[in-house]
Amino acid sequence: MSELHNVVIIGSGPAGYTAAIYTARANLKPVLFQGMQPGGQLTITTDVENFPGYPDGIMGPEMMEDLRKQAERFGTDVRFDEVTEVDFSKRPFTIKSQFGEIQAQSVIVSTGATAKLIGLDSEMRLMGHGVSACATCDAAFFPDKEVVVVGGGDSAMEEANYLTRFASKVTIVHRREGLRASKIMEDRARANTKIEWALNNTVEEIHAGENGKVKGITLRSTTDDSEQEFGCEGLFVAIGHSPNTKIFTDKLELDAKGYVAVTPGGTATSVEGVFACGDVMDAIYRQAITAAGTGCMAAIDCERWLEEQDL
Ligand code: NAP
Repeated sequence: MSELHNVVIIGSGPAGYTAAIYTARANLKPVLFQGMQPGGQLTITTDVENFPGYPDGIMGPEMMEDLRKQAERFGTDVRFDEVTEVDFSKRPFTIKSQFGEIQAQSVIVSTGATAKLIGLDSEMRLMGHGVSACATCDAAFFPDKEVVVVGGGDSAMEEANYLTRFASKVTIVHRREGLRASKIMEDRARANTKIEWALNNTVEEIHAGENGKVKGITLRSTTDDSEQEFGCEGLFVAIGHSPNTKIFTDKLELDAKGYVAVTPGGTATSVEGVFACGDVMDAIYRQAITAAGTGCMAAIDCERWLEEQDL
């Protein structure tokens, strides 16, 4: 017979840890699975300056470490283990992981989303050192600098426009002539005099200077394969996000983009007793603070649901 717990939280970003802090303080003794990337997306950023309460900013990994400690302080059982399969067809639910199997009266899904990346080794190596997948988070680190945005969708247009508040020049690199972005977003970007275009190009390589930070890229033309060196101090990848919902396919209702569907304004999923919070259910805001907010909501919804069930 496997262990039975009140609440199992799957995922260790700001949403998961906030849900853990709340459910632990409600004496529900949650178990939290950290997954493959403990701390989530914030562990691949450097300074976080937009999370309220840190007047001098904080490093992403340090903030996640603090959140983990805070969750553990109230009794969360944080496990360095990855959930591989769930059975939500009957209660208690079954959660299989790399190192075992446990049962849960309720589950909070906070597996987050992953920014799609171009796929270069240098991109991973320079993440947080000039490469970023979030302009809202990192644009302010590039005052009067020249930066590049990769992508041709609404995200790329939005990030490019946002970056022009700080950067001296923003060049949009897109692999085709035509954009995928909506007309209004494209028009706004085209009207912005700080934005330049490198259409029909891909980023072939990202180069670092002696200080270990981005100093330029190699562009390859998709029309004639020619290459050119291009100087820039920042590279923003804006080619979309994917919610981490693979293990929930056919287990929970997902929306058209693959995000976990929840009740409007709430966190209840299509399965009673399973709640979702953070980027896995939010394609719009995707911020640490909004994830933490929905993590709190999921914990409260879960606690009330357990109470109603007399569990
Ligand atoms: P998207 O619409 O899927 O666009 C992704 C872009 O990245 C495409 O232009 C694509 O090129 C390019 N791309 C994909 N993989 C690439 C690769 N490996 N290398 C180079 N380029 C690559 O994604 P999104 O822009 O994140 O938008 C997602 C959804 O959110 C959309 O429905 C969008 O309308 C919405 N959104 C709305 C707003 C807003 O209204 N304010 C803001 C942001 C996002 P191709 O075009 O060649 O495929």
